[in-house]
Amino acid sequence: MYAPPVQRLITELGKLPGIGARTAQRLAFHILRTSPEDANGLADAIREVKERIGQCEICFNLADGPRCRICEDERRDAALICVVEEAGDVIPVERTHEYRGRYHVLGGALSPIDGVDPDDLKIAQLYRRVAEGGIREVVLATNPTTTGEATALHIADQLRERNPEVVVTRLASGLPVGGDLEYADEVTLGKAFSGRRRV
Ligand SMILES: [Zn+2]
Repeated sequence: MYAPPVQRLITELGKLPGIGARTAQRLAFHILRTSPEDANGLADAIREVKERIGQCEICFNLADGPRCRICEDERRDAALICVVEEAGDVIPVERTHEYRGRYHVLGGALSPIDGVDPDDLKIAQLYRRVAEGGIREVVLATNPTTTGEATALHIADQLRERNPEVVVTRLASGLPVGGDLEYADEVTLGKAFSGRRRV
């Protein structure tokens, strides 16, 4: 229907989350109308982010070097680890200004139905971090969804067995059930943080 380069752009845009066929088409036509500078700016931004941004070797947050800015920040409490599902969940927690510790990004949530097992996530790396010592508390801030809850329970059980001296907490209720941390407003998320309970 379209010239192959146009069709290719529509196909690629359609792979983005939340972008249906119609939106992909609309975006493609927008890009066709836009100036070469703007279009190249978009292409360059995508290329640059893939070339320069990797994972922090400690916490698996996004990093433009071997370690992320939070792990490199000496003022952050290294005895406190907040466990989140995705790197995108770090930002909403940061926005609450309730948390001054470090993070651990799992890369998803346990979901046996979808074939996501502990080995598919950075769970073993978390246990290793905790086992190295110096950790006072692990805050489980996985999403308040079925898979997020299952992941939190699994990790809490394992940590209790492996390092009973470490306090394991879960964010307080009040977060919308079934929602994503990413979409929680900062007041609600801030309250959930300050009211976290031991699990
Ligand atoms: Zn890090």
